[in-house]
Amino acid sequence: MLAGIYIHIPFCKSRCSYCDFATGLYQSDIAERYVEALVTEIRTTPHTGKVDTIYFGGGTPSMLSSAQIERILSAVHESFHVEPNSEITMEINPGSVTSEILREFRSVGINRASFGAQTFDDNELAKLGRAHSSADTLKTFSSLREARFDNVSFDLIAGLPGQTLAGWQENVERSLELRPEHLSFYLLEVHSATPLAQHIERGIQPKPDEDLAGEMYEWMLERSSLAGYEHYEISNLCLEGHESRHNTKYWTGDAYFGFGCSAHSYDGVSRRWSNERDVARYVETIVSGNTPIVEQHELTQEEMRAEAVFLGMRMMKGVDIREFKQLYGVDLREQHREDFSRFEEAGLIEFEGDLVRLTRTGALMSNEVFARFV
Ligand code: SF4
Repeated sequence: MLAGIYIHIPFCKSRCSYCDFATGLYQSDIAERYVEALVTEIRTTPHTGKVDTIYFGGGTPSMLSSAQIERILSAVHESFHVEPNSEITMEINPGSVTSEILREFRSVGINRASFGAQTFDDNELAKLGRAHSSADTLKTFSSLREARFDNVSFDLIAGLPGQTLAGWQENVERSLELRPEHLSFYLLEVHSATPLAQHIERGIQPKPDEDLAGEMYEWMLERSSLAGYEHYEISNLCLEGHESRHNTKYWTGDAYFGFGCSAHSYDGVSRRWSNERDVARYVETIVSGNTPIVEQHELTQEEMRAEAVFLGMRMMKGVDIREFKQLYGVDLREQHREDFSRFEEAGLIEFEGDLVRLTRTGALMSNEVFARFV
């Protein structure tokens, strides 16, 4: 089994109003100390083996220099066997990089970009506190192509406060015109303790409309499948052969090792663990020679089975009931007879041979379906 590597870079140019990720404002001296700590963590990891995906997430990893990225990648190569043709992704925000810098990232081995476009509406971008405009999105996207990035994923957010269906449709159309290889879309979640949650509470911004967000989701699936995109996971679509190999590991139970503050890991069998969330504490811990792991969990057989169902069903091809029985000794049809027939009648799941999968309506209401398997 080939594992994946996740590397968390917790720095951004400014703080978006809806963000609850472990990230802070970029400062070059802190970033340098952080990179040093990351390199130490990767070099001293007890884990080894073959990997075929590396993912720089954040935060805004593209705020690091190509030399820093190269140092991190060298440490990964020292500790792991990185397969030729590995997928090496970096999250990049519009307006944060020039073509020159993108070429440098490409030359140190980054071959896929996950591009945080979010929306093409400048008012919505401003309300979200994003540091870029739609003109930046267009410019950075063309710089990515100039720098020979031929595997680009667009992130879009639906259900923004005050967003209309027509506004969303315009966003989707403008994204499709650019023909990225991959599209990820998220329904806006309002996390408590974010500025956005306070704005909504004080009536400065309207509450997102969930029914409308559902309509947006369905419309996008229909429109993008007409444009040749395959809906392969609840929130992800791609042109043929461009599924995110890294993210697919999260849904299919492959191992992944996370480095950096707040990074999560899974050994591909039964153990999950996660790192210290705070940047300063993470760096101090590494410098003093201690482990940054703050939480570990050994999954029970039952938890493993539940995860295999609710993560596996995120993939639109579904879960193979026969294979599941061979692996876990449980017949899902028997164990979930009542739930399955209720969901099938409601049009949320469907069966084909040994496969059980979500329908398009089921994908929209996946939380209700998954709640029965947790
Ligand atoms: S760019 Fe991303 S990680 Fe950074 S503050 Fe905005 S939403 Fe959060």
